[in-house]
Amino acid sequence: MSPPTAPHLYLHVPFCTGRCAYCAFRSGPPPPHPERYVDALLREAEARGLLPLPPLHTLYCGGGTPALLGPRGFRRLARAGLFVLARHAEWTVELHPAAVTPPLLETLAEIGVTRLSIGVQSFDDATLARCNRRHTALQAHAAIARARAVIPDTGIDLIAGLPGVSPTLWAETLRQTVTLGLPHVSVYALSIEPASAWGRAGVSPPDPDALCDAVAQAADTLAAAGLRRYETSNHARPGRACRHNLNTWHGGDYVGLGPGACSRLGRLRRDGDGREERLSAEDDALERALTRLRLATGFHPDRLRTRFPILVRRFPHWERRLARFRAMGFLSPANAPTTRGHEILDALERALLEPPPQG
Ligand code: SF4
Repeated sequence: MSPPTAPHLYLHVPFCTGRCAYCAFRSGPPPPHPERYVDALLREAEARGLLPLPPLHTLYCGGGTPALLGPRGFRRLARAGLFVLARHAEWTVELHPAAVTPPLLETLAEIGVTRLSIGVQSFDDATLARCNRRHTALQAHAAIARARAVIPDTGIDLIAGLPGVSPTLWAETLRQTVTLGLPHVSVYALSIEPASAWGRAGVSPPDPDALCDAVAQAADTLAAAGLRRYETSNHARPGRACRHNLNTWHGGDYVGLGPGACSRLGRLRRDGDGREERLSAEDDALERALTRLRLATGFHPDRLRTRFPILVRRFPHWERRLARFRAMGFLSPANAPTTRGHEILDALERALLEPPPQG
């Protein structure tokens, strides 16, 4: 029997020209011929028995800095025989502002890339320098304009809670963001990872209240500009949510290739270090069901009945807990997280993970 596979593929490109101060991802300098990395991805897919993949509904190239594959690498990727795209497939590529060049954009459009996500993080030059981002605000604006002219579905990432960013400075980054009229903005709350440069240097994590305020300020500003918070860290105009990530939050299967890429195929979970674990049927269902808590569509146990019959005995317990969360202002009447709910999402999830009382 061939191993299970999925029409959602994540490709990790582990190259960066430098190291951002907050970053603990697996990445290193690009090799002399980065385009040859495509062959390594193909070999990995073959060795793991994943080929042929079904026609992809979504493909996501993340990093690292995927742009370092260059036009040649992306053309090689499109022709490698690693995947075929289904009709109306979504293909997203993450881009660093300093790497957005006209030849790369033309290549990406030519091979069928439909979405771009540019890592802006801040529109303040002093903050960018402190983070060792290796680009300026002006470069970010130019990259966004250039990218949108070729691939209109271009969004950006921002980081809330960066050191030295006052509420006023953060408001200015948000103001510049909304004036762009983008279809998608991700806002990640800073965490200081021990393996990052800041972690090793003992930089203090942001004050939790100030961080929550910054994230809430972003959500309010973006909502006022027509971008709905459809997931804890993601905001989009109608119809512009990232379908690749939505598949994951709806508990779907996906294949990840490259060092640092996770996979979820049936009950098999593979982490970024290549460790595989076969989950029990109940743990698998729990994990897949509870990721929906993050979504603005709301968490409705009753709608999970057909997909996760093994969880049905938990539903009365969940309904009681959800009613309490609503009463405490953590969930809306439609069971979607409120601003306060997003702040304590892990705690809500842990409470639902507890086994129902006996008897
Ligand atoms: S944050 Fe992104 S660009 Fe910066 S070092 Fe990490 S992977 Fe590279």
